[in-house]
Amino acid sequence: MGRAFADFVSLLMLAGVVVFIYWYDVHYDGEPLFGRDVSETDPPPPEPDPDPDPPTPEPDPEPPLPEPEPEPPVPEPEPEPEPPAPDPEPPAPEPEPEPPAPEPEPEPPAPEPEPEPPAPEPEPEPPAPEPEPVPAPVLFLPPGELIPGSGTGRADDTIYAPGIRFPIENPRAFANSQVWGAGGFRGPAGGQCAASNYNFPWRDNFCETRGYATPMCPAGTGHQGQDIRPPSCDNRLHWAVAVSDGDITSIGTYSVRLTDDEGRRFTYLHLDPASLQVSAGQRVSRGQRIGLVSNAFGGTPTTIHLHFEIRQSVLVGSDLIATPVPPYASLVAAYQEAIAED
Ligand SMILES: [Zn+2]
Repeated sequence: MGRAFADFVSLLMLAGVVVFIYWYDVHYDGEPLFGRDVSETDPPPPEPDPDPDPPTPEPDPEPPLPEPEPEPPVPEPEPEPEPPAPDPEPPAPEPEPEPPAPEPEPEPPAPEPEPEPPAPEPEPEPPAPEPEPVPAPVLFLPPGELIPGSGTGRADDTIYAPGIRFPIENPRAFANSQVWGAGGFRGPAGGQCAASNYNFPWRDNFCETRGYATPMCPAGTGHQGQDIRPPSCDNRLHWAVAVSDGDITSIGTYSVRLTDDEGRRFTYLHLDPASLQVSAGQRVSRGQRIGLVSNAFGGTPTTIHLHFEIRQSVLVGSDLIATPVPPYASLVAAYQEAIAED
């Protein structure tokens, strides 16, 4: 080839070298052209970046850095999960201290206050007041309340003979039934001196079942009077006395009749005939002795008692008739007055 062509090629190659050197200088500043390590090639790029950037735009991107500060809230959730785990574990140990809970069992000593409830014992004390009401009802059953099965009584609390004296000198006597009481032929066993006969309460027996005409009783027949046992079961020991001023109007085999100034007639039965202190037609004073209470009943003895009647004129229905009247209320009043004076 020609010399001119060879010079052109050499010039062309020289120009290529110059272009390469310039390119390298732009992209690999200061670095050796050959022998560069691949790892080293990476860090270098970041370095050139900070240098060119800081000039102006960097101040702006820096503010975004404070934004990462709100990110710290993210790490906070991390501590949260941690506490939950430790928390459940500690609660577990806590139940162990609960075993001390058995200590509340020693609290059961609190039941000791239960022995205090015995304090309500004052309630049993109320029963004590009950005995108080007992005495009153025990003394006198109400008029007309007969022994069950002995007839139908008359509930009559009329005091037909007000102000009379109790017919037995020692008034501490007991009004009750001779026939349906202990020792009576219709009564329970035990004999006439049984304690039940000489005790309270008193019981009416005006209308108990008998065959005597007693118009004031529901049955029209009855007992006509009230039976009274003396203070003790002793024959011919206790005096019967006049219940009022009056006259002895008749004396029978086992009966004495006293009529007061108002026309009432009082009948005493079963007085010991040998002990009589009065005679027919005799005037007597209230409280004067008449005879001893006994079991005289003609030829056949009865129990030791005084059978006492009051007979006067009363209205029965529309008819005014002289008839036995219930003596129970009059006797209760006389007894209470006599006991008060005793
Ligand atoms: Zn009688």
